[in-house]
Amino acid sequence: MSDPPLLDIQDLVIRYEKRKGAVCAVEGLNLRLERGKTLGFVGETGAGKTTAALGIMRLLPEPPGKIVSGRILFNGENLLDKSEDEMRSIRGGKIAMIFQDPMTSLNPVATIGDQITEMISLHSDLSRRDSIRKASDMLDLVGIRRERAGDYPHQLSGGMKQRVVIAIALACSPELLIADEPTTALDVTIQAQVLDLMKGLKEAFSTSLLMISHDLGIVAEFCDDTAIMYAGRVVEYASTAELFGNPIHPYTRGLFGSIPSITGGKGDLRTIPGLTPDASNLPPGCPFQPRCDIAGPECSKEAPRPTEVKFGHYCLCHLNRGENQP
Ligand code: SF4
Repeated sequence: MSDPPLLDIQDLVIRYEKRKGAVCAVEGLNLRLERGKTLGFVGETGAGKTTAALGIMRLLPEPPGKIVSGRILFNGENLLDKSEDEMRSIRGGKIAMIFQDPMTSLNPVATIGDQITEMISLHSDLSRRDSIRKASDMLDLVGIRRERAGDYPHQLSGGMKQRVVIAIALACSPELLIADEPTTALDVTIQAQVLDLMKGLKEAFSTSLLMISHDLGIVAEFCDDTAIMYAGRVVEYASTAELFGNPIHPYTRGLFGSIPSITGGKGDLRTIPGLTPDASNLPPGCPFQPRCDIAGPECSKEAPRPTEVKFGHYCLCHLNRGENQP
C-alpha cells in the first residue's frame, strides 16, 4: 500500500458564530499536499485562506470559530481527533507556521537566541548546551551572524526578524511548513531575499510547504500545485503549470487578467467587477455569480460542485464541467 499524502483535507467546513448568525468561512475544502511538495493557496483577503491554515494548526479562536465537519489527515491521522497536548507537540515539531507580521510571532522581551533555543528544547531531547549550539547554527543558516543571538527583536530590521521566525519554524525540521503571506510586510528587495532563503531551506530540510499568498508571481515561482480560493471555496485546483497555462474558472481568469504585464499595453489590463462578497450574506447559487461575466440562469439557482475538467485539474463552475461530467 502506498504512503498517505502528508496532508489530506477532506470536506472541511469552518464557521464563525456571530450574534447575527453563523458565517461560513470555509466550505467543503478538499486539498492534498504530497511530501516534499509546495502547494500555493491563492485568494483575496477574506477568502478563507488564513482561517483554513489556523484550522489545520487547530489554532482557530473558539468561539467564535468552529470546525463544523470534515477531516484534516496529517500522515494519515486526523488532527481533529488529537488532544490539545498532542497538538502542542505536533505544532512546532511536525507542523510549523510563519505568519505575515514577524512581530506577532516574536517575543519582544526575549533574545532571538533564547527564542530559537526554547523551540528546540521543547521539541527535542537535546541538552540545553546542544540546543543553544543548534540555535546559533540556525541563525547562521538564515544569514544572521551567530554573535547576534543576544539581540532582542527590536534591534533587528523587518527582514531579519522574518529570518528569525523562519529559523524558529525550521529549527525542529517540521514535515509541514505553513507560510501565511510570509513576505507581505517586507520591502520588495527583502521579499526576494526571504523567498530565496525559504526555497533553499525547504529543499535542504525536505519540508512540504503550504504557501498562502495573494501574489500570483510568488506562487508561480514557488509552488508545484495551486488552489484558487474564493468565498471560502476552492474554485480551481491544478498543477501550477497547468493552472497558469490553462486557467478555466472565470475568477481565476479575472485574477490573471488584472496583473500588469511589462509588454502589455494600457488596454490589456482588466479588473474583476464588484467586491468580494460578505461571507455572512453570500448570493444564492454560485458565490461568484454577481461578478461573473459568463453567468447563466442556473448560476443563481444552484451552487456548482467541483468537477475534474481534465486529469488533475478541478473547477467549481456550472459552465466548465469538462467533457464527461453530468
Ligand atoms: Fe460564473 Fe456560473 Fe461558473 Fe459561477 S458557476 S463562475 S457564475 S459561470
